[in-house]
Amino acid sequence: MKKLTLTLAFLFMSCAISMAHGPGFGRYQGNFGSSLNQGQAASPQTSYQGLQDHQGFGLQQINSFPQEPISDQELYYLNKMVQEEKLARDVYAYFGEKYNQPSFNLIAEAEERHMEAVSAIFERYGLENPVTDLAPGEFKDPNMKALFEDLIERGSIDLGQAYLVGATIEDMDINDLKECLSGVDNQDIRFVFQNLQKGSRNHMRAFSTMMDTMGMTYTPQFMNSEEFQFIINSQWERGPVDQDGHPMEPGYGFQHWQDGQGWQNGGFGSGFGPGQGPGQCPMRF
Ligand code: MN
Ligand code: MN
Repeated sequence: MKKLTLTLAFLFMSCAISMAHGPGFGRYQGNFGSSLNQGQAASPQTSYQGLQDHQGFGLQQINSFPQEPISDQELYYLNKMVQEEKLARDVYAYFGEKYNQPSFNLIAEAEERHMEAVSAIFERYGLENPVTDLAPGEFKDPNMKALFEDLIERGSIDLGQAYLVGATIEDMDINDLKECLSGVDNQDIRFVFQNLQKGSRNHMRAFSTMMDTMGMTYTPQFMNSEEFQFIINSQWERGPVDQDGHPMEPGYGFQHWQDGQGWQNGGFGSGFGPGQGPGQCPMRF
């Protein structure tokens, strides 16, 4: 069925394949279980390396924007979001290991890239990054730590509950990023946050599709149900978006994942085509 085929189609740009075995995430994955149980330190990748490898959403684009003064509010949102991306990464990696589901591992890799993208802003401005040198499941903010524990507990009941937790994280993430974007005017930060939000919409589509196959539905807790319906009924978003959330390039070749069959090749023509829904372009939330 088309939906199932597309489940993991555009979560990750094609370079996710090469990153899957990259040094950062490989080390991270390997350390997850032991660091959670024994407190063994792992060092999350905070360098630019992963970003440089990641076509279309990377350091070069971030550096193409001017450096502008960081307001207190922007600093607050940067701190919030880098921890939230870590939360997503750590929860999904945990479930990926627990349930042996490639979907969770692949989305965890996307969250790793999101974390790196926010970290690139910290590095660009010489700011102290709250996730540097923190092991998986560890957070500077005690509320984040409590949320992590709660989400892990809920998702450990069964795979369906884990997908519900995934949808909850993406719901929260999209909503938080909306608030962040309303309080951020630096173009480089906006560029990162817009791409994080685009990724979250694709992740929401993925979790929703996987719950569909299990006869489950998610009821949004943060965004309104109209936006939620619009997201899950609109197309996968391919390629990076700009600082205003608009797609940067029309037409993408792509590879998509099918459980049991691995990566499949596909492609789309150029152009965006008509929007879906009442008067809104599907790529512009
Ligand atoms: Mn994310
Ligand atoms: Mn996500």
